[in-house]
Amino acid sequence: MTGELHPWNAGVFQSLAMRVPRLPHALLIHGVPGIGKLALAGRFAQSLLCEHPDRSSRPCGSCDACRWFLAGNHPDSRRLEPESIAMQSAPEPEEGAEAPARRARPSVEIKVDEVRGLADFLNLRSHRGGRRIALVHPAEDMNAHAANALLKGLEEPPPEAVFLLVSHRPARLLPTIRSRCVAVPVPVPERAAALRWLESRGVTQAERWLAYSGGAPLRALEYAGASEALAALLRAALEGDAGVLDSIRERDELETLAEALQKHALDRAFESLAGRRKYMTEGKPAAAGTAVAWLEYARSLGRHRVLARHPVNPRLFVLEMLAGLPSRKT
Ligand SMILES: [Zn+2]
Repeated sequence: MTGELHPWNAGVFQSLAMRVPRLPHALLIHGVPGIGKLALAGRFAQSLLCEHPDRSSRPCGSCDACRWFLAGNHPDSRRLEPESIAMQSAPEPEEGAEAPARRARPSVEIKVDEVRGLADFLNLRSHRGGRRIALVHPAEDMNAHAANALLKGLEEPPPEAVFLLVSHRPARLLPTIRSRCVAVPVPVPERAAALRWLESRGVTQAERWLAYSGGAPLRALEYAGASEALAALLRAALEGDAGVLDSIRERDELETLAEALQKHALDRAFESLAGRRKYMTEGKPAAAGTAVAWLEYARSLGRHRVLARHPVNPRLFVLEMLAGLPSRKT
């Protein structure tokens, strides 16, 4: 269901484990993307279901409950995610299945029916006589109806139900949802620990990608794996290469491009103001006197990064992003 517990989150796991004797019925596990919050929540869920946890509440990994959980089919555990995320971990469709192009686009929201399904699940009696666990990830992807349905569940939680809400942006949750949960902040890991982990994964330019990801190791690993594609995308954007930009159709790529342009812009501004680059992006330093223009451009890209998930027309969206580039204007 989820992978390893990342070494830098061992301390947060222990603080969760200490709550177990008087466990609140809802926890809000929050922090920036790419620091292992989902794996942490998964590990904690497994420890709550495990039949033989050790004295530090670590799951044994070998009982029936652990094996079912790790295979993603424990009857007392559910994970709610938008289709677009759930599909990333789903197996490829078989040959002869409906062509992906003809299927409706996977939803980027968690919908009300899905939350109602979760409520039905929580109201059943536990199969194993223990807790029932509902993991919602990322919780801010619930649309307004879904969030209100979840709020009902949080207000009158069935006995033995445990809600684990994982959030990258808790400020986007309903205040009434936040106030029903005990907040569990997950910090950005120490740089040395993150670099050690990245190097153990065979990342060669670990420092560069960790800087690019703002210190989030899981994102750094993704960027390092996609580094050539990312560099080509940014180069094409900066050089106004229409051929490559025409090929952008996927929402993920739009978001990636908006982020790459934003980091490029911030580095031009930082370098011109402070003489150093924060995200270690490549490229020429900014022309003198353009720092403010780059900062403003970076801010406008922040809005684009949010809108990139729902673009009306991807090509127009890209052209609009590029139109504001300060280097085009000088
Ligand atoms: Zn176990």
